[in-house]
Amino acid sequence: MVEAFKKIIGPSNVLYGGAEKARFSHVWATDVPLTAKGVLLPSTTEQVSKILALCYQHDVEIVVHGGLTNLVGATETTSNQWVISLEKMNAIEEIDQESKVVIAQAGTVLEHLIHAVTEKGLFLPLHFGAKGSAQIGGVVATNAGGMRVLKYGMARNLVIGIEAVLPTGEVISSLKKIIKDNSGYDLKQLFIGAEGTLGIITRVSLRLFELPTSRYAALCGVDTFKKVTRLLRHIDRELSGNLSAYELMWQSSYQVAVSAASDRSVPMHSAYSYYVFIESLGNDLGSDYIILENAITSAAEAELIVDAVMAQSDREVENLFHIRENTHALRQPFPYTQHFDISLPVNIMDVEITRIVAELEAISFVEGVLPFGHIADGNIHLVVGKSDNKLAHSQKIETVVYQNLKKYLGSVSAEHGIGLFKKTFLDTSKSKAEIALMKTLKQAIDPKNLLNPGRIF
Ligand SMILES: Cc1cc2nc3c(=O)[nH]c(=O)nc-3n(C[C@H](O)[C@H](O)[C@H](O)COP(=O)(O)OP(=O)(O)OC[C@H]3O[C@@H](n4cnc5c(N)ncnc54)[C@H](O)[C@@H]3O)c2cc1C
Repeated sequence: MVEAFKKIIGPSNVLYGGAEKARFSHVWATDVPLTAKGVLLPSTTEQVSKILALCYQHDVEIVVHGGLTNLVGATETTSNQWVISLEKMNAIEEIDQESKVVIAQAGTVLEHLIHAVTEKGLFLPLHFGAKGSAQIGGVVATNAGGMRVLKYGMARNLVIGIEAVLPTGEVISSLKKIIKDNSGYDLKQLFIGAEGTLGIITRVSLRLFELPTSRYAALCGVDTFKKVTRLLRHIDRELSGNLSAYELMWQSSYQVAVSAASDRSVPMHSAYSYYVFIESLGNDLGSDYIILENAITSAAEAELIVDAVMAQSDREVENLFHIRENTHALRQPFPYTQHFDISLPVNIMDVEITRIVAELEAISFVEGVLPFGHIADGNIHLVVGKSDNKLAHSQKIETVVYQNLKKYLGSVSAEHGIGLFKKTFLDTSKSKAEIALMKTLKQAIDPKNLLNPGRIF
């Protein structure tokens, strides 16, 4: 296979030595050495297609690598597999200002894409902590969410077209610049959120927006959860369309995050039960600030908040949101951590998170529970700190966190995907019939189970 791969992509793009493979080990949640036979670095869709056709012919398993920022073990490998990394397919091919569409190769780093469209006066609203490494192909393959889902939706809502290579090597493309296309099945949806199990995304076209001219933010201290949800409705009404992010940190998370923020000023002391981060994006530089300020003032008068600070410049907004985004800091106090990314209906969230925190804190090997998240979307992340990494202990923690998800019609994965780590809990969020249909699709498109095998189910 090595010689055949070299013929397709050139010898320097077939990496199979230990040191060469090392940088493809997972970067964030775990650092598992890459056990795959090697890493392939194609530069074109045609090369991806030839590699997959060859692998299909010889029953060779492939694992797809994007920016390696997933938190679910999705890019780990076994020793019989080869990796295809999209990192060399990183060209931004077209920014069409009239159609407000960008077409980019899958390996383009999200942050590069954001900067490129910004320079053209356009806006790609995808925004989350890993944007400096995540690739647009990975972002679409995981249907990533982030801070601005409230206003712009998940990655799915921004995808207009996809070019992908099927496990057999066949290229399938819906790479268009049109938003409306009801000509039969919307096949691009097959690849969005499929975590690379149905095809390798090679190019995407994405919808863009006019670049907002104003960006302001506020941090509010709130004393009850009920007020957090009432404040959301209040701010949403008052900002009339400008509310782009409404993020929440519980006091415990905020305390840890600000104690790590020594290089930046701490905007508010950590005496309150909840901290709400609000972002306003609009097109009236002068009045948008006043509208946000008035909304905060009226929230204080209605006793929805006990304290607030506002950020006016881009730098101030970044500094404020850095506290919420710096999830790395939340891992630091603990020898080991476990991460959760659950969805719950907002109306039962308070009761359920309170139960989860109380039950986890009563466990001897749990050292801390830090909840935070995209509250407007019903998406809560939990970092659970623990004194050891024993499997039985991890499983006990999972049982506590996941035990009511089915009852409340929640999700075991709000935005990070299933990967390898959450497979055993898929049935908390999907019915038997749904899982069976998912398997039917996988079987139809990848009958030999060669592409990202073992991910999701
Ligand atoms: C600090 C931090 C913050 C994060 N915050 C968020 C957040 O707010 N919201 C959110 O949704 N996620 C978040 N994530 C998770 C992660 O960043 C996203 O899942 C991201 O979309 C993964 O992109 P990637 O390029 O790194 O993909 P990878 O990690 O490389 O791969 C992820 C999955 O996609 C598949 N894949 C990758 N590229 C392709 C392709 N071209 N074609 C087909 N399949 C492919 C892989 O095989 C794998 O199954 C965060 C992660 C970190 C570390």
